[in-house]
Amino acid sequence: MRIVQKYGGTSVGSLERIENVARRVARAREEGNDLVVVVSAMSGETNKLIEYAHYFSKTPSKREMDILLSSGERVTASLLAIALQEMGYGARALTGRQAGIRTDSTHTYARIESIDTSAIERELAEGNIVIVAGFQGINREGEVTTLGRGGSDLSAVALAGALHADACEIYSDVDGVYTTDPRIEPKARKLDHISYDEMLELSSLGAKVLQNRSVELAKKMGVKIIAKSSFSDGPGTIISEEDESMEEVVVSGIALDKNQARVSLRDVTDRPGIAAEIFNRLAEEQINVDMIIQNASREGTTNLGFTVPQSELERAKKAIGGFGHDIGGTDYDENVCKVSIVGVGMKSHSGIAAKAFSTMAENNINIEMISTSEIKVSMIIDEKYGELAVRVLHEAYDLAK
Ligand code: ADP
Ligand code: ASP
Ligand code: MG
Repeated sequence: MRIVQKYGGTSVGSLERIENVARRVARAREEGNDLVVVVSAMSGETNKLIEYAHYFSKTPSKREMDILLSSGERVTASLLAIALQEMGYGARALTGRQAGIRTDSTHTYARIESIDTSAIERELAEGNIVIVAGFQGINREGEVTTLGRGGSDLSAVALAGALHADACEIYSDVDGVYTTDPRIEPKARKLDHISYDEMLELSSLGAKVLQNRSVELAKKMGVKIIAKSSFSDGPGTIISEEDESMEEVVVSGIALDKNQARVSLRDVTDRPGIAAEIFNRLAEEQINVDMIIQNASREGTTNLGFTVPQSELERAKKAIGGFGHDIGGTDYDENVCKVSIVGVGMKSHSGIAAKAFSTMAENNINIEMISTSEIKVSMIIDEKYGELAVRVLHEAYDLAK
């Protein structure tokens, strides 16, 4: 079999843990597999590098950030290759560039455009284990780029697709995808199987066990992901196309996103084009707007609310500031979070959203905003009740079973 494995930050968080990964890789090799192993930086390393840059500048140049941040993954890739060589295995560490990963030019959040697998194929043909530094590639100009936080997952999925791998195994410190973050709800239950669409919602809504872009790409390329733990042996969770049995489960999981801020605009002049102007301005500033709510108009004005990632709030305030008389008043709240319930079964069951709202009411948690799609219900609430909301919803939908 040809297997792509990915080991996250915690799994390579110390020299002993890199040794543990080397032993696991060696075992898979002994079982006769061809292996491409993608690694993250040691846990905390990427954050540390970002802090270093912020010591000098609040707005460091993104090009330089990419050169800086890509270094973390090079450290672990080379150390893992050295460890494997010492154990007697042929192993070769490759940077994103050497692995042929070509991206667009969006520094710090680049998209993979293509992968030239020839170097990896050559190494595999020579019998080597290929270790790839995750989270990075190069653009057309040969500049180093990175793929967004958690981007080593994306490297692994893209490589698995390009190499037509038989499996894409993503190893972290949890032994699969749970009904909710087991750090928040110890009663969370591991799922054997989850559909791409549900996983995509969960990871987009805050479950960082898999990067959302990696799930999106896996769906597009038909790459089956298996999420497992690098600290134990178990079957993990399979992320794949939805099948009929999945629809029987109404709610599959609950996600919490604490990186949210609410923006409320009062007395906005109600005329054709005003929403377009406001949201175009925000888009120009590359601010990711979510959960937009507009009230019915009264006396020629309306109220407009939406959420943005906390880290983008300052920029959003600046963009809104330019609207003068068209906006009567503004109110910002950084102390909010988004709690979401997700499940493909919602398509065919009713009363799911009502149950979420009653559960909030029974626990005296005020819902500030609501948004729904076919397979999710999201609520913006006070940040201090976020974890409580996750636990009471988990109970209400009987997810621990
Ligand atoms: P890595 O560093 O290996 O990429 P991450 O820290 O990015 O790993 O992801 C693993 C973490 O995701 C877990 O420690 C867990 O706290 C968190 N997590 C959030 N939601 C879930 C969920 N639904 N199932 C499992 N883990 C979850
Ligand atoms: N090291 C990067 C991060 O912390 C990428 C990754 O771990 O996947 O975001
Ligand atoms: Mg991760």
